[in-house]
Amino acid sequence: MKVAVFSTKAYDRQFLDAANLALHANHELVYFDTRLDPKTAPLADGCQAVCAFVNDDLGQATLEILASQGIRFIALRSTGFNNVDLKIAAQLDIRVARVTVYSPFSVAEHAVGLILMLNRKLYRAYNRVRDDNFSLEGLLGFDLHGRTVGVIGTGKIGLIFAQIMHGFGCQLLGYDAYPNPKFEEIGVARYVQLSELLENADIISLHCPLIPETHHLINADTIDQMKPGIMLINTSRGGLIDTKAAIQGIKSGKIGYLGIDVYEQEDELFFEDLSDTVIQDDDFQLLQSFSNVVITAHQAFFTQNALEDISRTTLSNLSHFEQDTPCPNEIKPPEPVTRP
Ligand code: NAD
Repeated sequence: MKVAVFSTKAYDRQFLDAANLALHANHELVYFDTRLDPKTAPLADGCQAVCAFVNDDLGQATLEILASQGIRFIALRSTGFNNVDLKIAAQLDIRVARVTVYSPFSVAEHAVGLILMLNRKLYRAYNRVRDDNFSLEGLLGFDLHGRTVGVIGTGKIGLIFAQIMHGFGCQLLGYDAYPNPKFEEIGVARYVQLSELLENADIISLHCPLIPETHHLINADTIDQMKPGIMLINTSRGGLIDTKAAIQGIKSGKIGYLGIDVYEQEDELFFEDLSDTVIQDDDFQLLQSFSNVVITAHQAFFTQNALEDISRTTLSNLSHFEQDTPCPNEIKPPEPVTRP
């Protein structure tokens, strides 16, 4: 089957080609480095399926163009699917599958990396020592042992994250719309209401999906409920945090540390080398200027293990569509479909 694969870098091609061979899937993968949006969707002409990534625009306009070209299947190389209008896809008879599970350790471990980097100011320490500046002024951290960590979203990634933080000797508070029994099996973990988590955690890490109910979950009101000097970590999706409210929280000192791997407007920035351009996003530039903010560019998933898992599942999802067999990773449309 001929598949238009968007938003690809050399590493995507390497892992997808390897999985295509290993699984004997024999798909013809046509790679594009460009993002998928209404302008680039015509590139998929002649293909039977599309493969897309986190910042591809799979809104109504793109989907209508894809459908008019005969595309009936979209294989997402991601867990999150907030960038797809599932209702419109269903109306257009386009099925969508995702990578339901891939190394949850990749993202959980990156979240822990951000915590250590912020707490012990490793980003500053590294640069200082390279500059022969061996002063410790400004590098003071705190023991993680005994601190309370709030985990919002205790699914696959949140659970692993909680287990790692338990290893540091932290107390754990969880909040989840659908509690996971495995979370409270971690001895020191208990579920609480969101307000109790916000009021009592020293560190809050976000691991829930971006859906209408969680959009701007972290806003001026919820920040106000947090402990002064809170450490906030987001490796989930940028839209969970109201960026302007976070900036205000940092300026007021309420947020003492911010570690983000995802950013609300990241589709204009991430995955590209923009080092020779002037970034026009003032909020992003302001965040960059704060000494207690660490930003990584959506790399939490980026381990060999995760890329292998993502590629294999994606190729297998495509094969299910080609062979018309039930695809276990298909995303069901949100509500009954009314055909136009
Ligand atoms: P998951 O589905 O296993 O877990 C998500 C958890 O969030 C579930 O327990 C669910 O019940 C909970 N949840 C749903 N609605 C909620 C709500 N309204 N309030 C609180 N909790 C709610 O997903 P996962 O594999 O653990 O991934 C979590 C998120 O991580 C994904 O949605 C994705 O956005 C993000 N992610 C980021 C990267 C990255 O590279 N930065 C990579 C993979 C996934």
